[in-house]
Amino acid sequence: MALRRAHIAHIAHAAYVAHDSHGGHATEGSKANMRLAEGIRRVGFRKWYERQLLQSHGHLVLTFLCLVAVFGALEAMRGTLGWAERVEELATLVLCAGAGLWALRRYLLLLNHAELAASQAECPQCKTYGRLELVQSDDSGERVTVRCRGCGHGWRIEV
Ligand SMILES: [Zn+2]
Repeated sequence: MALRRAHIAHIAHAAYVAHDSHGGHATEGSKANMRLAEGIRRVGFRKWYERQLLQSHGHLVLTFLCLVAVFGALEAMRGTLGWAERVEELATLVLCAGAGLWALRRYLLLLNHAELAASQAECPQCKTYGRLELVQSDDSGERVTVRCRGCGHGWRIEV
């Protein structure tokens, strides 16, 4: 039982650290949620999209780990006798459930964001996908004017 608790605490800690890493420690280049305009300018649309998907699925994995931890804590609670231990398990459970919900929400947000951009990344004129350069962007960095690298046609992408 002690071993399992240590395991759960470890997952909870990992979730906490992952959560914390979004708090602004990241350097500009590896920013968790790179704005569309910034992404196109720095790494190009396709790479930006790829990164958004990777980050999104990282959060899905985290959601799954939290779910495992929640069930682990539930099972551990059934096996414990003392109230102190139960409170400890309950705290772990609440922490993991919270982290899991946060990760799930983050997964969906990042995925939606990436897909919304991808659905507008095809050149309306020559149908080339994702080969575009940034012309201008509003302050949010999420409404941009781009130009096709193939035919020079310009259009807007809003996410
Ligand atoms: Zn084009």
